[in-house]
Parts: sequence; C-alpha cells; structure tokens
Amino acid sequence: MEVEITYKLQFESALLIGSGVVAAGVDRATTQDERGRLIIPGTTLKGRLRDECQRIASALGRPEDYCQPPRTEDMCPHPFLAKPNSRVALASSAEFPICELCQIFGCTWQPSSLIFTTLIEEAPADLSRQLWEEMAKTQVRASVAISRLRRVAAEERLYTSATSAPGWQPLFRGRIFGSLPEAKAVRFVSLLQAGLLALHALGGSKSRGLGWLLPPAGHSIGLPFLEVKVGGKILTPEEFRQGLEGWRKL
Ligand SMILES: [Zn+2]
Repeated sequence: MEVEITYKLQFESALLIGSGVVAAGVDRATTQDERGRLIIPGTTLKGRLRDECQRIASALGRPEDYCQPPRTEDMCPHPFLAKPNSRVALASSAEFPICELCQIFGCTWQPSSLIFTTLIEEAPADLSRQLWEEMAKTQVRASVAISRLRRVAAEERLYTSATSAPGWQPLFRGRIFGSLPEAKAVRFVSLLQAGLLALHALGGSKSRGLGWLLPPAGHSIGLPFLEVKVGGKILTPEEFRQGLEGWRKL
C-alpha cells in the first residue's frame, strides 16, 4: 500500500544542524545546499522522529515490544522480542523477529521501506522570491566553551558556529513516502503523524536556545502543515484516531 506524508516544520529560534561539513573559518555550521538554502538531512529528522514514535508507542502499549536504539546490539533482530501475544513479525530476510518500529524505520538487517527526504527551506509567502534568494541565510556567532568540571570559561576555547540568521523563523518542507503492508499502513502512518506533531526541537545546542520548533498552530505561513495519504486517499481525523488506538496494548 502506497503511503505519503508531506509536512512542514517551522523553527521558533535559530538552528544549527550540522552535517559534519564545516565552512571556511567556522568551527561548526548548519547545513546549506548549493543554492545557499538551509537544509536538514532526512536522517536527522528520521532519528528524532523514531525517538518520538518509540515514546508514543511505548506509552500506549508495552515498551518491551520494541528494541532500544541506538546501539546495534540492542536493536533488531532480537530473539527476546519473540514471545506469545507480541505483534512482532518475522522478517523474511532474518531468522529473528523485527519489531514494528524497525519495520517502519529500518535497522541493520532490514532497511526501511519508507524514504525520508531532505528538508529544504521554503521562501516565505510574504517576501519576494528575489529578496529571499539574496538574503544571508546564516550568521556566524562566537561562543565560549565552558569547562563543565570547573564551571569557568576554558582557556582558548572560543569557537564560532554558523547558525540560521537570528530573528528569522525558517520554514521547511519534508516528505515521507513508500510502501507499507496493507494491514498495517493506517496504524503505521498514524504513529508517524503523532510523532511529527510531537516534535519540539531538532539539531544541536538546544540548551543555548537553538533548534526549537514552533507548535503547528503557531505557523505563520504555509498551511496545511501536514497531509497524510494512504493508497492515494487523505487520512481522516477519525482514521488517524483509530490508527493510534491500534497501538494500545493487546
Ligand atoms: Zn527493532
């Protein structure tokens, strides 16, 4: 069954989501594409979304039905997950069962059947495209690393990071799509939808006020912020509610 989720995330604060690629003269930099637009790697979103979905599924059902990332040895395939009355399915490629979160997000033994696209910054509706293209998307800020042990500024630990521009609330569009088993599609996309709604921050330096998301109701532009389709049909609020109910303890 084909499924597709399109969504928007808007940040309340500046963000710093590095890919490990560092700009010239800056210690850390948030990721940009070749046109200078801010981007968030799909893997960054996928990792955070799995945390949220795992939290929700564990709260509704039994935490022990799911493996515990991020260490590979604590993840599926996991013989301890095979027990009576558990919804863990046998994966065709492995002799051990794969938990349902790994069926959605994938693990070493079974890649996800869903694709989590790179999130790309969108031009705001109330700004001319040309002005937006010319705007500086990042600003370098200097910080002092504090020694955690002595609670004083560590010597020569001034560092710089290029975050998104201050006073700006960047808006991103992303997409999750692929094929899911028909019997599980509504339940799986409902959990993904609940996870997206629960996201509150992305990226590093949250304690320094970076990477906080606006709640969906606070988005200034670009509604609808979330659309879920199963087999080409938009998921209704009632189907979403029933899909989430499906995660309750058996
Ligand atoms: Zn698992």
